[in-house]
Amino acid sequence: ANNIRVGIVGYGNLGRGVEIAISKNPDLTLAGIFTRRDPKSLTPASKTPVYAYDEMSNFKDDMDVMILCGGSATDLPVMSPEIAGSFNIVDSFDNHSKIPDHFAAVNKAAEESGKVAVISVGWDPGLFSLNRLLGEIVLPQGDTFTFWGEGLSQGHSDAVRRIEGVKKAVQYTVPIEEVLQEAREGKGADLTSAQRHKRVCYVVADEKDQARIEQEIKTMPDYFAPYDTTVNFISEEEFNKNHTKMKHGGVVIRSGKTSEEHKETVEFSLNLDSNPEFTASVLVAYARAAFRLNQEGGKGAKTAFDIPFAYLTPKSHAQILKDLL
Ligand code: NAP
Repeated sequence: ANNIRVGIVGYGNLGRGVEIAISKNPDLTLAGIFTRRDPKSLTPASKTPVYAYDEMSNFKDDMDVMILCGGSATDLPVMSPEIAGSFNIVDSFDNHSKIPDHFAAVNKAAEESGKVAVISVGWDPGLFSLNRLLGEIVLPQGDTFTFWGEGLSQGHSDAVRRIEGVKKAVQYTVPIEEVLQEAREGKGADLTSAQRHKRVCYVVADEKDQARIEQEIKTMPDYFAPYDTTVNFISEEEFNKNHTKMKHGGVVIRSGKTSEEHKETVEFSLNLDSNPEFTASVLVAYARAAFRLNQEGGKGAKTAFDIPFAYLTPKSHAQILKDLL
């Protein structure tokens, strides 16, 4: 069979992750990378040709599906509807409160173009969303808990790096172990994110600035003030050795009762060395599904909830029944 031809739009962490993930999926071919920067300034490891974002419309017959790797804050709200007007797309839009609006905008474009647009896939939203829904379906009487981490938060790390005197910094979000254990018992459903997680920072700074920096971090509204926050000052060597990976993960727990005397717990957890590489692995599976659904006449926006698992795998239906059911 012919390979599915995939384009990458935006070549940051996620874009590079998609490039690697495609190489692990023999039924997919990376056909081009599109960027808003000067294409000559990028040198992809795979030697895939790089094109300017504005040239994309010339490739309508050359790409079966585009994986959008721009940022959720300002890139995807514009790019996803725009590109879904001409191509099947997949994005990882993760601004949870704005997902309904994003869905509506992308759906309108994809309905008009007759393409399939899969939005907000990855791990959260994405695999975690699937597990939150699954938990509710099988245990209608119960509570759902999401814990994030231990993992590096890009937004919080950026906030620390903006403080004067900070040379390097990372911030890890860490679930509070006792609260996590209680969730498995079905307790603590009313707790806030700040009561479930703590924040741990590793900062490189001159000694004279450290007391002030620690104070500024711990009192930063919204980001740190409501949380149990620890600030560790470390050497640049230690930082470079131990704190340059984009680790992440977390747990989704559904705890409920099937009868008065029987409690049941469903748990899904992720432990990721590389958040962008893992997210990219999920995106490429949904790219396969987007193309197949469109081949069958499907169109419009879809989420992880709307796509049967059988569309995500390169294996045949007969094979997954035999091996995995
Ligand atoms: P990123 O590295 O900041 O890249 C975002 C965009 O910025 C790129 O597509 C690229 O576009 C541009 N860019 C990257 N490096 C650049 C540089 N050196 N100079 C100028 N521009 C540069 O962000 P990311 O880590 O790939 O994450 C992208 C989005 O994925 C995040 O906003 C997040 O919302 C989402 N995400 C979702 C999940 C999930 O589970 N659903 C998980 C992780 C991330 P151009 O090539 O066009 O310049």
